[in-house]
Amino acid sequence: MTRISSKGTCSYCGGSYSKSTILRHLQACPARKTENEAPSKKGSGKGVAKTIFHLQVEGLYLPMYWLHIEIPAKATLDDLDSFLRDLWLECCGHLSSFEIQGQSFFSEKFEPGDRSMRFALEKVIAPGMKFEHIYDFGTSTELLIKVISAREGQAQGKGAVIMARNDPPDIRCNTCGKPATAICCICSDEGTGYVCDDCAKKHECGEDMLLPLVNSPRTGMCGYTGECYD
Ligand SMILES: [Zn+2]
Ligand SMILES: [Zn+2]
Ligand SMILES: [Zn+2]
Ligand SMILES: [Zn+2]
Repeated sequence: MTRISSKGTCSYCGGSYSKSTILRHLQACPARKTENEAPSKKGSGKGVAKTIFHLQVEGLYLPMYWLHIEIPAKATLDDLDSFLRDLWLECCGHLSSFEIQGQSFFSEKFEPGDRSMRFALEKVIAPGMKFEHIYDFGTSTELLIKVISAREGQAQGKGAVIMARNDPPDIRCNTCGKPATAICCICSDEGTGYVCDDCAKKHECGEDMLLPLVNSPRTGMCGYTGECYD
């Protein structure tokens, strides 16, 4: 597989950074600093400071897809799972799990003793830890999540905030080299499923097998189109 450069954009200042420099940038970004120090927009005066985790998320086998997010430590695994589904994963409501230090936490419980995702993040993760998220146990998308740090700050609700995200990778049509717009869900297993608009019409597996190319580690898998499932 050709090496795909992996640049991304800082949500605070709009700057473009490589995957390896974005963390240092976020720690120093003046625009982020200003936003974090501004008094909260809602409510009167200063709320109680909460612990907020900084997480780096990436495709376990597709590391060109990555995110830096912040999420309150009181948010649950469920909250984090919903966020990842909405942004990156959801196709048909598959089962998912977090794998944290040898323990599994499932989106749905099937057997007595299965752990749910109703645990607050602060109970199960801490800075320095790495853990995994698996979406769909058939055609799995696996994510690696690193807990970069924790800080005290203002947070609203339990939602995650995207601090930085990879730009859509420059993926080319496997036939003609033009920018790809779709991926064949049959050929993608061989790593040769990328097609451009022109080549899509004559793709050997048929146009029905093509899925739109989406900026997500789930692109080309199952029925993933990037449209949120309800
Ligand atoms: Zn920035
Ligand atoms: Zn699916
Ligand atoms: Zn082409
Ligand atoms: Zn194909």
